[in-house]
Amino acid sequence: MTTTEPSRIGTTFASIDPRDGTTLAEYPVAGPEEVALAVERARAAARWWATQGPRGRKEWLLEYKRAVATRSDELADLITAETGKPTEDSLLEVLLTVSHLEWAAKNADKVLRRRPVSAGLLMSNQKAYVEYQPYGVVGAIGPWNYPAFTPMGTLSYAMAAGNAVVFKPSELTPGVGVWLAEVWDSLGASQPLIQTVTGDGSTGNALCHAGVDKMAFTGSAATGRKVMAACAETLTPVVIEGGGKDAMLVDADADIESAADQAVFGAMGNAGQTCAGVERIYVHEDVKDRFVETFTAKVRALDPGMTAASSYGPMTLAGQVDIVRRHVRDALARGGRATVGSDDSVGEKLIEPVVLVDVPEDSTAMTEETFGPTVVINSVRDLEEAVDKANAGSYGLGGSIFTKDRRRGLALAEKLDTGMVSVNAFLAFAGIPSLPFGGSGASGFGRIHGADGLREFSRPKALTVQKFPAPLNLMTMTRKPRDLRVVRWMLANVQGKM
Ligand code: NAD
Repeated sequence: MTTTEPSRIGTTFASIDPRDGTTLAEYPVAGPEEVALAVERARAAARWWATQGPRGRKEWLLEYKRAVATRSDELADLITAETGKPTEDSLLEVLLTVSHLEWAAKNADKVLRRRPVSAGLLMSNQKAYVEYQPYGVVGAIGPWNYPAFTPMGTLSYAMAAGNAVVFKPSELTPGVGVWLAEVWDSLGASQPLIQTVTGDGSTGNALCHAGVDKMAFTGSAATGRKVMAACAETLTPVVIEGGGKDAMLVDADADIESAADQAVFGAMGNAGQTCAGVERIYVHEDVKDRFVETFTAKVRALDPGMTAASSYGPMTLAGQVDIVRRHVRDALARGGRATVGSDDSVGEKLIEPVVLVDVPEDSTAMTEETFGPTVVINSVRDLEEAVDKANAGSYGLGGSIFTKDRRRGLALAEKLDTGMVSVNAFLAFAGIPSLPFGGSGASGFGRIHGADGLREFSRPKALTVQKFPAPLNLMTMTRKPRDLRVVRWMLANVQGKM
């Protein structure tokens, strides 16, 4: 175990600043009993939450949002201390976090309340409605790379949909998780709508077995499989927000300056530790040299380090360093070139940027999630080839396309096998609360954010109310021959001809 991984001391563990290895605080490793107790308390909280009604829930959530926003410096400092990311990045994370909370609070009732739907010709004597009811208690297991934004993408929508939540933060960022629950407690509500249980994978596993009504997991595909297997035992539904290997596609007509600028932020920002970060760039061969030159110059200007003003900070998870080194070495051994850095750039805590070009598509640098400040740039004949290459992997989280032709950009976006695509921007979809967030394949399934995120944490309920007895009553044991003649006529002349 390295200094930046949590250290177990009996039944507690330490949260450690990855910049210098100092211990920030000790937290308990919650066992099955504590987790089960939290779920029991959450069940009572969910009943209380239901009594608040849509308007009351909205007001509570907006009050919670104001409390988080007012104390944003405190939260940003905590994020920076536990992840090592620069303060500006942490503040941006807090802003995105509260904007989602606000959207969820303001839109839940509109999206989820009972609404009439057409009953159709055959059942025209019925009034039909659909409504969305909360599950009750939602369990959330989170990662460390965006320790506020990512879990709150689940928590905000789950709470707005009427659920109470029990949150198991990453063992690298327990302080942020505890803080989020403490701010809820500070509002003076009689019930703990958010409870945080700290610990490692064993606590996450206990949460899977604690009787939650839905589990929302964000993390790696490997752990996602374990969470699914545990939840399968009780048929507990799950959402899996997994990792990614996102591609940026740059066409011959693209604004190279803007594409390169966004690519640097997408590939190197947060030390490359972004699920939907840019890991592969496919550039039209006509502009490849210009793109590589522009991108390389911008990357050389970065100044990563351990200060608040650094371009990006150290690796939060020390073990990830070996994966990054392995990918860089594999790319270079297979004939790729580095225009910035080399495997020597991979330090013990900090990784200097590495820009690789012309890397074979079957290199691990192209097929596995690297999660570090490295990126590959390969050229393509046209963007159709880029789409094929981008779609070849097992991940399907996000992507971006740069072209002056916005209509063509959208047409290409449709062909990318991912849950999200931005044209002429990086990650714009994550900052728009009304858009669903999630992927396919090894990136998982289910959606957080937006109306789909609210429905993800709700059970759809079908309702009918009979207005008058049916002229054609087929749902009876005493059907008349005339009724069946009408059925035959409808099949031949209505359904058979429409
Ligand atoms: P991880 O899979 O190692 O851990 C995620 C969480 O699962 C942690 O809280 C961990 O304690 C818990 N866990 C571990 N074993 C468990 C078990 N057996 N049962 C239940 N819980 C268990 O992932 P990580 O290193 O924390 O996060 C990085 C990964 O998360 C990357 O792959 C990244 O791409 C992904 N991620 C995805 C999104 C998204 O929204 N799609 C967002 C952020 C990060």
